[in-house]
Amino acid sequence: MTRFTAVELIEAKRDGLSLSPDAIEWLIGAYTRDEVPDYQMAAMAMAIVLNGLDDAELSAWTTAMLHSGEVMDFSDIDRPKVDKHSTGGVGDKISIPLAPLVAVCGVAKPMMSGRGLGHTGGTLDKLESIPGFTTALSPDRFREILIEHGLVLAGQSETMVPADRKLYALRDATGTVPSIPLISSSIMSKKLAEGLDALVLDVKTGSGAFMRDVERSRELARTMVGIGNGHGVQTVALITSMEQPLGREVGNASEIRESVEVLRGEGPTDVIELTLALGEVMLELAGIDGGRDRLQTAIDDGSALTKLVEVTIAHGGDPGVLEDTSRLAVAPHEGRITAPAEGYVTRCDALVVGTVATRLGAGRERKEETIDPGVGITLEAKIGDQVGVGETLARVRYRDEGKWEAHQAQLASAWAIGDAPVDPPRLIIDRIS
Ligand code: URA
Repeated sequence: MTRFTAVELIEAKRDGLSLSPDAIEWLIGAYTRDEVPDYQMAAMAMAIVLNGLDDAELSAWTTAMLHSGEVMDFSDIDRPKVDKHSTGGVGDKISIPLAPLVAVCGVAKPMMSGRGLGHTGGTLDKLESIPGFTTALSPDRFREILIEHGLVLAGQSETMVPADRKLYALRDATGTVPSIPLISSSIMSKKLAEGLDALVLDVKTGSGAFMRDVERSRELARTMVGIGNGHGVQTVALITSMEQPLGREVGNASEIRESVEVLRGEGPTDVIELTLALGEVMLELAGIDGGRDRLQTAIDDGSALTKLVEVTIAHGGDPGVLEDTSRLAVAPHEGRITAPAEGYVTRCDALVVGTVATRLGAGRERKEETIDPGVGITLEAKIGDQVGVGETLARVRYRDEGKWEAHQAQLASAWAIGDAPVDPPRLIIDRIS
C-alpha cells in the first residue's frame, strides 16, 4: 500500500501547496513504471506550469528524475569530466568544434547530445551527416572512446533518465513545455546522469531561443546553475544571443563544414568567439591553466582537427569528408533570397530561418521523419551588414521544388533592412555562476 495517490498530489499542487520529497519520489517512480497514467501526469505538469515548484520541490523532482534510470560513473577516469549544454538554437554547431578543442587541452568530455527539436538543430543529426558516424553506443563502447580519445559524441542511452523521456513527450503534446522548473529539471537530470565534475550551460535568449526574454533566460540559467551546484557539479551559465542564427550555415552537413572551418582557424567570428568563450569556462572549471591561449594553440597547430578526425573514426565515420568537406552531402537545387532595398540589415530572424530550414528537410516536423543532410541555408547577410538592392541575403540548398516555393516568401521575411547602420547584437550577454 502506498501512502500517496496521484490525484491528491495533483490537487495539492493545483491549490498551491508544496509536495514533500517523498511524494515527489513516489510520483516520478510510479510514472516511470507506468503505474501513474499519462493523463494524471499531464494534469500535474499543468499544475506545475501554473504554480511552479519551490527550491526543495525542484531539487527533489530533479533527483527523482535523475535516479529513474542509470547514472554514469566515470570516477575511475582521472581527467576532469566537463560537458557543455546549449538550450538550443539555430546554426548552433558549437559542440562540434568545442568538444575536440577541450579534449586536446586535457578535459574528458562525455557528450550526450540531442536531436533537432522544433526549429532548432541537434548535434546528433549534424554528426550523422558524416557518412557512417554512429551516435548510438553501448555503455562499454561509450566509456572506451571517452578513455581513449578524451571525448565521445553520442546520444543518451535508453536506460538513462527514462522519466524524462516519457515526461518530455507528454509535455510536448499537452502545452506544458514552457515552465522553468520543468525545463531546468529535464535538462539538468540528463546532465547530472553523465557523471560530470563540472558543466557549462549556454542559455540562449532572443527570437530563436526557448526563452525570448533576457530576464526569463537569466531566471532559467540561475535555476539550472542552482540545481547543478546543489548536486555537487560545478555549474556556470553564459547567456548568449539567439536573435539571429550563429555563423553562416544552418543545416546538417553544412554545419559540419563550418565546424571544420573553425578548427582550421577560418570560421565566422561569432562561432569562433562563442566556442572559445565556452571552452575557456570549461577549462577554468576543470582547473586547467592557459585558457584561451591554450585553445587557440589547439586550433593553430591543427591538433583539435586531428582529434575530431580520430574520434570520427572511433564512431565509424568517414574521416575523408572532414579532410575534403566538398564531399559532404549537398542538396541538388539552389535558390536565393535577395535584398528588396539597399541599406543595413537590422533583423535576420533566427526563428524564421530555423523554421524554414526544418520545413525544407533539415529538421523534423514529426518525430518519425528523416533528415535531409544536404539541405541548408547559407546566410550571406546578417545584422549590421550593408547590402545593395538585389544582393544575395541567403543561398538555399533544397531537394523539393514544391517545398521551396511554399517557403521562399517566409524565409525572405526573416530579414529587415533599414537606412541607418546598426550594430550586431551582443553575443555574450551575461555569466551566471
Ligand atoms: N530541452 C530539454 O531537454 N528539456 C526541456 O524541457 C526543454 C528543452
